[in-house]
Amino acid sequence: MCSIGGGTDIELEERVKGKTYKCRECGGHFKAVGKHPVCPSCQSEDVEPA
Ligand SMILES: [Zn+2]
Repeated sequence: MCSIGGGTDIELEERVKGKTYKCRECGGHFKAVGKHPVCPSCQSEDVEPA
């Protein structure tokens, strides 16, 4: 369902709405837009879509 790259329609939709991610470092959830979300708590880039 959440494939990376490809569909421009999906990417555009995510960019508008934002997306929820889970940080693998601190386990926190946060909402971000863009292709390179960063955890607001620990600044980690090691995150995954929640
Ligand atoms: Zn974190």
